[in-house]
Order: sequence, then structure tokens, then C-alpha cells
Amino acid sequence: TLTSPCPQCDGVVKENYRRYACTGANGEGEGCGFSFTKSPAGRTFETHEAETLLRERRIGPLEGFRSKAGWPFASELAIVTDKETGQFKLEFDFGDDKAGEASGEIVDFTGQTSLGACPACGAPVFAHGSNYVCSKAVPTAAQPAPNCSFKSGQVILQQPIAPEQMQKLLATGKTDLLDKFVSNRTRRTFKAHLVWDKAGSKVGFEFEQRESKYPARAAKTVAATAGKTSTSTVKTSKTSTKKAVPARKTAAANYRPDAALAAVIGSDAVARTEALKKLWDYIKAHNLQDPQDKRTIVADDKLRAVLGKDRAGMFELTGLIGPHLVANA
Ligand SMILES: [Zn+2]
Ligand SMILES: [Zn+2]
Repeated sequence: TLTSPCPQCDGVVKENYRRYACTGANGEGEGCGFSFTKSPAGRTFETHEAETLLRERRIGPLEGFRSKAGWPFASELAIVTDKETGQFKLEFDFGDDKAGEASGEIVDFTGQTSLGACPACGAPVFAHGSNYVCSKAVPTAAQPAPNCSFKSGQVILQQPIAPEQMQKLLATGKTDLLDKFVSNRTRRTFKAHLVWDKAGSKVGFEFEQRESKYPARAAKTVAATAGKTSTSTVKTSKTSTKKAVPARKTAAANYRPDAALAAVIGSDAVARTEALKKLWDYIKAHNLQDPQDKRTIVADDKLRAVLGKDRAGMFELTGLIGPHLVANA
């Protein structure tokens, strides 16, 4: 049992086999549905960590997580409200230091070793928060008003950027070929060098020159990339990977059907789309479409408990099952 209460209902949060879960006010009930996994990304919480996370709604950065592809990463974790379901859930937060920026807090780099000279203004660059920043890009005692904007994430598209790589970027304008970037759009990993894009005044990608079966085309691609670096650059300071992980989790089976929905589609964890598909399987199997108008679903007892009414339009289904899907953290 954790001493901090459920963020959703103030109930008692207890540890079960795989999760920390709300057990309601008396600690013996079903609870409100709030729970989070004990082992996000292959790393098991210490009890005191779970306690801190619950109390502060945030912990970290913690090290020792492993991605699905098997590489290690560090991240903060936060308990946030799921925009879709309104439920609290656990989320990796790779941070973009917005809070720090807004607070205008004076940063003290005393005792820190600079990784090199800022490519924009020449001032020393340091590791700071979840970024590498130019010492003139943050408020310091010597310089309360920042006048540079150089900032680059320590994790970019899930690829950790080691200090040595940042040193290399600052010294030569380019990192080694890094192979653990994960595209937000395609979810595929890709290899790239981080490069300093002078024209755009930002850190961008330079893609590996791939050996191809189609040399002509490959050459063209490379030329296009080299010629128009700006199109492939990203503003790394804002390229928080915050969205990447939750988005990928959306596609995974990250919702648990509640009791009413489980009676219809089973209790296996599902992705949203999968839940809808299973619901349709049930509707079809039980012949619950109005014969006069196939777009109208005529609920049986089990389905009525989910839809909350006797008849529902097919386009309402997604919205109606939403409240019956409990985020799996
Ligand atoms: Zn609760
Ligand atoms: Zn600078």
C-alpha cells in the first residue's frame, strides 16, 4: 500500500501483481480505475519511487529503461490526464524545459565543464536539464536576459545524444552517425548525423548516405538532402520526444475494457481501434443492427450496459465506448 492517495479519487493505492492500482476509499473496493504499471519499459519502480511519483505526480529522470528495440534510455515520468479519456495515466516525459524557461530562473554553470563553443555565438555550451544549452541562451547571473537561442535536446526522437557527441557537433559541426532515432511519423528507426545548420541557425539531421541498388536515385536523394538541409532540419530545442512514446502506445494495446465492456469484447487489453473492431464483431455476431437501417445498433442487455441506451448510431460507437476504456498507463 502506498501512502499517497489516488490522484483521481483520493482512494487508497495498492500494489497488485503487475500494477499499482486504486482500491477506493476503504482500500478494498474496485477503485476508480486509476492504476499504473509497476515496470514501465522494463524497469521496475522501487516502492519509494512509486510513492514519490504518486505524491509529486512526477519523478526522474530515472535511468535503466529499455525501449522495445532494446536500447536503454532515461526519462522523467509523469502522471498526467489523458486528453481522450479524462483519466490519469503514467507517461514518459522527455521534457522540454518549458517550465524552467518560463520561470526565468537564474542558471549557475559554476563547476560544470563546457562541451564546446556555441556555434551561434561562441559562448560555452553546457548540459542543462534535458538539453544542451548555450550559456547565453538561459538567464545567468552575468547575463539575466538571454541573447542566444542555441539549445539541443539530450534525447532527440528517442535517440540519446551523449555529451561526447555534442562535443563533436560543437567542434566539427557534425556528430557520428547515430542509429537510434525513431521517426514520429512512421515509428521507424533511422540513422542520421546531427549537424549544425548555419543557415537555419539550428541543429538538424543529415541522413546517412545509403548504398543502394539504384545508384542514380540514391545519388539524387543525397544531393537533395545536402542542398536543402533546411527542409530536413528539426528545431531540436522543441523536438521533445514527449509525444513519441504516448503516440506509439496508442497504437498498442493500452486500454483495459471495464466490466461492462469486457462482457462484450472480453477483458484483454486493447487499442482503441481494436476495441471498436471487437465491438463490431459482437454486433454482427449477435445480429444487432436494425434491419431497417443498418447504421443503427439495437442493443441487447450486455450492449445496453455499454452504450447506456437501447439504440445508437454507428458513428456514436467510438464516443460511447470511450468511458469504458481505462488507460493502462
Ligand atoms: Zn481512485
Ligand atoms: Zn550561443
